Amino acid sequence: MTKLTRPSLSPLKADHFFSISETSDQDLITLLTLADYYAALMQSGSDIPRVLTGRTQVNVFFENSTRTNSSFELAGKKLGADVLVVPVAASSVHKGEALLDTVQTLAALNTDAMIIRHKEAGSCKAASAALGAAGLSTCKILNAGEGTADHPSQALLDALTMFQSLGRTPDQGLHGIKIAICGDIRHSRVASSNAQLLPRLGAELRFVGPEALLPPEESYPEIDRYISLEDGIQDADFVMALRIQFERLPDGLALSKEDFFQAHGLTHERLAPAPKAFVMHPGPMNRGVEISGALADDPQRSLVLKQVQNGVAVRMALLDAFLHVGHNSP
Ligand code: ASP
Repeated sequence: MTKLTRPSLSPLKADHFFSISETSDQDLITLLTLADYYAALMQSGSDIPRVLTGRTQVNVFFENSTRTNSSFELAGKKLGADVLVVPVAASSVHKGEALLDTVQTLAALNTDAMIIRHKEAGSCKAASAALGAAGLSTCKILNAGEGTADHPSQALLDALTMFQSLGRTPDQGLHGIKIAICGDIRHSRVASSNAQLLPRLGAELRFVGPEALLPPEESYPEIDRYISLEDGIQDADFVMALRIQFERLPDGLALSKEDFFQAHGLTHERLAPAPKAFVMHPGPMNRGVEISGALADDPQRSLVLKQVQNGVAVRMALLDAFLHVGHNSP
């Protein structure tokens, strides 16, 4: 049972939130424990302490986002921060202003945290270096999805959702839990961040999908790969479906969407080898491609909306832990 008093936690070791692999085990447990507390607090309807009153958060998304952008915005507002969501499409980035000029300009507004999404790997680190060079290094950078390798806050909210479904607290880990990630793993930063996180928490992870959408074997030598959905999801506790990232498949997919659904789409019937499994999806979902609408909407099996809800709690934990005055000081 999660207690409704704020857990007393060690200060974070990290200055910025770049990726799961660059976050220590202790920081991961701190963030997940704090997120579990915020999820319980919101669930109870209790007042949320406005620990970020007077702090400024700027969301700057150079790629589209619905869930991540809005949940970071809501998280900051619930904690009392002043939150600025910059409509990048309308900003001067499109008049030729570079990413680094943009982040320097926005950080110069006395910004305490900048939430960045960008299509290129390394953007958050480049932004942090640019802020350092401009004497603005007190501004924390939180990665909200970058390139095809990192979406660390998504992995945290996926793990939190699993802990809640299992009735475990984050420090109890995911030992003995089988998780199958299915679909377009090769182009998915969600799969990559989860592969950095879930085995560290003790879970057994499997990748399932057509060969063309699986990552090269040498990228993840320790993770079993399956072409057959039936074999890959056998006895799984959680089955996560991923969207085919058509925007990252310049030559398209050899299979039509209908054929993909026939061979690899998740349905109630196809979940038979995993009778107890919960189904997850980071969104946006393509119903009738990687998952059937009936399964996605089944409250007994689907955790999709729970994941969205937990997105707010995880992002509150990130903002609190990285920004809360006093909490992060040595
Ligand atoms: N929303 C996730 C992302 O930003 C997943 C997706 O787009 O398929 O990567």
